[in-house]
Amino acid sequence: MGRLFLEYLEGKVYACSTCGSHLASATELVSKSFHSKNGKAYLFNLVVNVCQGPKEERLMTTGLHHVADLQCTNCKQLVGWKYLQEQAFEKTQKYKEGKCILERTRLDDCFCSHPTLSDSECEDTCMLP
Ligand SMILES: [Zn+2]
Repeated sequence: MGRLFLEYLEGKVYACSTCGSHLASATELVSKSFHSKNGKAYLFNLVVNVCQGPKEERLMTTGLHHVADLQCTNCKQLVGWKYLQEQAFEKTQKYKEGKCILERTRLDDCFCSHPTLSDSECEDTCMLP
C-alpha cells in the first residue's frame, strides 16, 4: 500500500479519533445537535480525508434519506455519513443536502492546528467550536 495523500486543515480542526487525520474544520461546522445511533453527531458543510461508500436509502428520525457512509481515508474507520442530493427532500430538510455528519465518538476534541500561534492567539484567530 502506498503512502496516502492527506489534506491538512488550518485553524480549529476536528480529527479522526483513531489515526488523527484531519476530517473537518470548525468553521465548516453547521450544527452540533444531531444524533446517530452511537450518540452525538455534528453536521459539517465540508469534510476532508474521507471515502464515500455506496449510495443507500436509510430511514432516519426525520424520514427516509439518501445517504452514503463516510470512512476515514487513512484508517478506514467509519466516521459518519453524507446526505446526498434527492428530489424528495422536504423544504425543512433541504439544508442538509450535500452536507456531512461526523459522529462525535469518532472525533478527537477540536484542537488548533496553527503551528505558530499560542492557544490564546489561536482563539482570537479561529472560530470557537
Ligand atoms: Zn482515521
